Amino acid sequence: MSTTGSPPTVADVVAALDRRYPPAWAEEWDRVGLVLGEPDHPVRRVACVVDVVPETVQEALAAGADMIVAHHPLLLRGVYSVAATTYKGRIVHRLIKADVALYVAHTNADVAAPGVSDALAARFGLTGLRPLHPPRPGSPADGPGRGIGRVGELPTPMTLAELTRLAAAVLPVTAWGVRAAGDPGRMVRTLAVSGGSGDGFLADAAAAGVDAFLTADLRHHPAGEHLAAGGPALLDAAHWATERPWLDDLAAHLAAELGVETVVSDLDTDPWTVHAAAPRPDDDKEPRP
Ligand SMILES: [Zn+2]
Repeated sequence: MSTTGSPPTVADVVAALDRRYPPAWAEEWDRVGLVLGEPDHPVRRVACVVDVVPETVQEALAAGADMIVAHHPLLLRGVYSVAATTYKGRIVHRLIKADVALYVAHTNADVAAPGVSDALAARFGLTGLRPLHPPRPGSPADGPGRGIGRVGELPTPMTLAELTRLAAAVLPVTAWGVRAAGDPGRMVRTLAVSGGSGDGFLADAAAAGVDAFLTADLRHHPAGEHLAAGGPALLDAAHWATERPWLDDLAAHLAAELGVETVVSDLDTDPWTVHAAAPRPDDDKEPRP
């Protein structure tokens, strides 16, 4: 702790994060926890990022971070080489050479309460929060308030068109912005949100009886079929923008718990970099001959 004068170690940060986001709460396919780093190395500054990519690593090194805490796993599938000639191997080399540890909290942070979607819900001022998709009863993550996504009530009812503009204003800025599916005039009082890819929770949003569901990575067929079946309106935000709000909560927790300095990355790692709205039919109508 900071009060003793000596900074916490990598092992101390890991212990604090494992308490808030127990690795056992992660999905079976997921890979979370300490990825690399010496357990007894001191940690004065932690960089919080959604994605471990060369740009965010560069940012963390420039900020003098001793450790990176990331949402998305750097290494998810089986790896047989971390040679510096590979994309991910290059990242691993940079971090080890700079003596920077890396820790991942992914689906275990999604399911936690507070977790990734609580921070997303807070951007909309949602109240009366409950999980959108609670863990299977008896599973390790089962517990009060826990689950993927959140359902809550907006402070003021508004139309889907207004909510879409609000979402674009309160979420971190991306080229993608926010698009919505459904009647623009539909009134929205209750909203479900889920950070990251939410395709798999369309049925949960319909069962929750909400007016709208905001998530990322929605696709033509699942979205169209969900709407045709009378499901809630859909808002499709940029994946990074739905998870970036959690980094503030993560950083505040680390600072309070361990007295470490924190830096939060605002570097937009969404792969989509260009967006053009189609011209409206009237915008540049040529005078008819
Ligand atoms: Zn994600």
